[in-house]
Amino acid sequence: MENEAHKIFTEYLKYHKHRITPERFEVLDFALNNEGHFTADELYVDMKQNNSNVSRATIYNTLELLVDCRLLVKRNFGDGKTTYESNFRRGSHDHLICTTCGEIIEFHAPEIEEIVKRVCDELGFIPSGYSFNIYGICKDEDACEKKKSKSSYAPKRRKKS
Ligand SMILES: [Zn+2]
Ligand SMILES: [Zn+2]
Repeated sequence: MENEAHKIFTEYLKYHKHRITPERFEVLDFALNNEGHFTADELYVDMKQNNSNVSRATIYNTLELLVDCRLLVKRNFGDGKTTYESNFRRGSHDHLICTTCGEIIEFHAPEIEEIVKRVCDELGFIPSGYSFNIYGICKDEDACEKKKSKSSYAPKRRKKS
């Protein structure tokens, strides 16, 4: 899986005359192996804990390059933090965000894409992306309270296939 992503990123870096460095590919691998939604700082902590020496600045600017070449997408879940997630071989999806415990649930509803397409057709607009977030609270109050109390960030790792 990583090899195709590496190819896409290599082509992109060459085309835009950015330097091809092992650190940038390290960031790519960590980002794509993260199954959830993460901030640049969370990725930094995750990489540090896995004995990586990549600097915070390199992580920040590499994430921007990965968004630019569409291997990652940037999300804003209303808390003012820039969050990233893998866009490599992933279908489009939208999010439910619990404003109490911070849980983010992904869902896919093709009707939303149809609405985006119809509105853009009607208004003569070419969409490059859209974001549809539903804010609210978990129905299961106990589970919500528990999730709220364990605040430390634990990355969800994608299983290597
Ligand atoms: Zn998502
Ligand atoms: Zn909740």
